[in-house]
Amino acid sequence: MKENIYTIPVTDGFNQNSECPFCSMYNKLDNDAIEYMLGPSYMEDDIREETDKIGFCKEHYHKMYTKQNRLGLSLMAQTHIHKINSAIKKYSSEYIKNRPEPGLISSTKGIFSKKNNSAEKIPEFLNNITNSCYICNKINTTFERYINTFFYLWKKDNSIKETVKNCKGFCIKHYSMLLTEGLKELKTKEFNNFFDIISEVEINNIKRIEDEIDLFINKFDYRYKDVPLGTSKDALERTITKLSSQFMEEEDD
Ligand SMILES: [Zn+2]
Ligand SMILES: [Zn+2]
Repeated sequence: MKENIYTIPVTDGFNQNSECPFCSMYNKLDNDAIEYMLGPSYMEDDIREETDKIGFCKEHYHKMYTKQNRLGLSLMAQTHIHKINSAIKKYSSEYIKNRPEPGLISSTKGIFSKKNNSAEKIPEFLNNITNSCYICNKINTTFERYINTFFYLWKKDNSIKETVKNCKGFCIKHYSMLLTEGLKELKTKEFNNFFDIISEVEINNIKRIEDEIDLFINKFDYRYKDVPLGTSKDALERTITKLSSQFMEEEDD
């Protein structure tokens, strides 16, 4: 396979030999994005303007918090929360200025339409923030490009087919994603071949995981005390990866 700047992250993901190459790619993007966020980037005006506007999700606040750059995270939180409070103050004073008197609601219905109801602007503004994340957005944009690259390789380069046949399958989310994207990206004949390859890999590797977790469970029974655990020693962690698209690791904090 000819490597270039676009294909390297995809082939690296497969080279990790994990329970899902796409989770490996995503995980690398996630770690890099957190490092980047807590590096000098938060002092750059254009980035800070964006993080002030959209903030981060619960998971990424937590991940950044465990990285111990308390000053960096505090600075981002400070300007973000300041921006939020300014908006709440603005919308609430607009509402207070224009709100109808009790009892007058029906007669003022026309002028007091939904559109200029500042009380509704507050949840609208806050819902946008609680449902968005600067880091998730950044990762997802690049991850979409990796998926395109994967299908580009699938169409152009037969060695990716061998790589897929020899991988450990995919987590259920990314196996499902491959089928959905495959239907969009590939012509019927190409898709049928793709379907046969990835489904065989997936079914065989889920069977392998089933056998590994069976042995892991059996080891709790004294009758199995002499049976070697072998690869089943981290069967639970790898089963969780297959099921929930995350690598189980110890937390830093
Ligand atoms: Zn995955
Ligand atoms: Zn996020």
